[in-house]
Amino acid sequence: MYGSIIGSFLPLLVERIIAKKNFIWSRSQCTVCCRKLDWFELIPIFSFVTLRGKCRVCKIKLPYYLLVYEFSTGFLFTLYGEQSFKILCLLICFEIISLFDLFTFQFSLWWLPLIFALAIYDSPMPYNNIVSILILYLIILLINYKFKWIGNGDLDLLACILISTNLMVFAHTLPLASASALLYCWFKKNKVVPFTPFLFNNLIVVLFLKSILVTM
Ligand SMILES: [Zn+2]
Repeated sequence: MYGSIIGSFLPLLVERIIAKKNFIWSRSQCTVCCRKLDWFELIPIFSFVTLRGKCRVCKIKLPYYLLVYEFSTGFLFTLYGEQSFKILCLLICFEIISLFDLFTFQFSLWWLPLIFALAIYDSPMPYNNIVSILILYLIILLINYKFKWIGNGDLDLLACILISTNLMVFAHTLPLASASALLYCWFKKNKVVPFTPFLFNNLIVVLFLKSILVTM
């Protein structure tokens, strides 16, 4: 439960940091009618579902990513909230990066040393595998500078996911994230979408399914 509370707070926090608003003390409000939200409109998942994803007064549609992030952060804390603080920190960094990417199509390079350090620190792999992945990542990064296949930030996150999890998790997350991003583009008729939100949310789904399969 506290995971989804954080999951509904984080998008708001990042949005307010980007808009340079007072992000701690101001009450949440509807972005269209500017009405301050009541307490019962702030309950994660429950409020979104009971209000059918719309503002109670002006009926503007609330963005679906709110619900997606409430669910994924809930799963994230269910998985790692009590057992692994290190991986929890890393995944929350991924989440914040994906939110910056969602709102601005970029994120600060200052995140990179932190996520790479956490990923290497959490890694279940032997050091020579990590070094090989880093070399491969640098080569692809250099080629990508010239050809611009995908955003460099997407490559950074992909490398960190591979280092901090394993090949199996990576090999499930990447196609799922690509498929959902393509579906979203097709559905919304958008040509460009930020990829890291799809990466982060699909990674959580894969980790959650993996934990269910392991306990079964
Ligand atoms: Zn409204």
